[in-house]
Amino acid sequence: MSTSYDVINPATEEIVKNVPHLDLEATDLVIVKAAKAFETWRHIAPGERARLLRSFSQVVTDHREELAQIEITNSGHTRGNALWEADNVANTLMYYAASPERLFGRQIPVPGGIDVTFKEPLGVVGIIVPWNFPMPIAGWGFAPALAAGNTVVLKPAEYTPLSAIRLGELALIAGIPEGVFNVLPGKGSVVGNRFVTHPLVRKVVFTGSTTVGKQIMVGCAEQVKRVTLELGGKSSNIIFADADIEKAAAGAPGAVFDNAGQDCCSRSRILVQKSAFDNFMEHFEVAVKKFRVEDPNLSTAEMGPLISKKQFDVVESFLDEPIAFKGNAPTSPGYWMAPTVLLPKNTQARSWREEIFGPVVSVMVFEDEAEAIAMANDSEYGLSGSIWTRDIGRALRVSRGIETGALSVNSNSSVRFWTPFGGFKQSGLGRELGPDALDSFTEVKNVFISND
Ligand code: NAD
Repeated sequence: MSTSYDVINPATEEIVKNVPHLDLEATDLVIVKAAKAFETWRHIAPGERARLLRSFSQVVTDHREELAQIEITNSGHTRGNALWEADNVANTLMYYAASPERLFGRQIPVPGGIDVTFKEPLGVVGIIVPWNFPMPIAGWGFAPALAAGNTVVLKPAEYTPLSAIRLGELALIAGIPEGVFNVLPGKGSVVGNRFVTHPLVRKVVFTGSTTVGKQIMVGCAEQVKRVTLELGGKSSNIIFADADIEKAAAGAPGAVFDNAGQDCCSRSRILVQKSAFDNFMEHFEVAVKKFRVEDPNLSTAEMGPLISKKQFDVVESFLDEPIAFKGNAPTSPGYWMAPTVLLPKNTQARSWREEIFGPVVSVMVFEDEAEAIAMANDSEYGLSGSIWTRDIGRALRVSRGIETGALSVNSNSSVRFWTPFGGFKQSGLGRELGPDALDSFTEVKNVFISND
């Protein structure tokens, strides 16, 4: 039986649209359609596939305002972020549009003939997207998947399907053939799970919680289905006393409160070297208090609301630890929460260990480099992080010492479409983006051709 879902604007709590959900039967029909489309898409000449992806990128750029507005209304993302996200889809498509003609194999010396390798597409790729960054996370999956010659079935999150639905329409406008890129709004337990169980889906790219990611991995094992997992995080922002403390403090709110903290890369643990603690906290308090939490339509907004009442309640449950200070938030309808800085008693505190996924950060002190590394690594996660120091040797030692996939030194920026992204430990499996992403959407085939 088909169902539907009321999409809510989290900044006003008003219903934006009712979106029909696909049931199992409808999901299967689209998967079969994608499998059929694969037979032609895989054989399209590399230059033509590249041209179609460039065209898709251009159409996304032509609709950036519309896509951004959809994300502001559906997800409460700030205008600045939403425009960046639409552009990120266009940029990721353009970056991978360069790859169909560069999908090189190798020629390996062998006696008696030649040996060559081919990178063959997998077939239908299933992409399961979370609600926190609906556009970029979709694009990080579908752009390289399509470039490698696969067709795609994509399931957006229940809360935030609207931008993905529009991207599906824009693909057709750009000339991507029917059946190649398919968006299937629906429940995780129905549509998402069908990607895992349907034998025609040859790979699942899942971004979401570690709990569901583990279930996906178990399910994929049944068919030895390829899987990429981008999961939770509990990343550290490590500030050494020799750093530019004012700069580190000014950047720290954005590093954790951007997207209302609903960011797998959010630096939700701040580790400050003891001798710099008072100085850091003084500047940090000023920066937190002036962090602008307001109507996401305003170009000045730095943070919008949380995605849902459910998420609000989860985040609120972390606020029973000592609070150092708070920022501001509107009191109007909407899932608004003020940025909050906690001082947990010890490293066993819940706020220090669990992914909060909201505008809450915990601060603790450390004595020396060894303790900073040990504290940062004392987590089941390992996705991102920042290191602030003026000592290059220390920056290198600590970067190599921390078990995490995407680090930045004297910066909080760690995600670019042309560099690899993914997690250590329970933050994930495999890498997205960067020059090697097509390897995760192809199989290597080795062919020996005899001289005889
Ligand atoms: P979630 O795991 O609840 O849902 C993610 C997606 O999986 C949704 O589309 C959902 O419908 C679907 N899903 C749920 N149950 C499923 C099932 N049994 N089978 C198949 N699909 C299923 O996560 P969320 O709450 O939407 O997103 C927040 C989480 O995502 C956080 O933990 C965050 O850290 C993580 N995240 C990670 C990254 C990364 O790159 N590592 C990026 C963004 C978000």
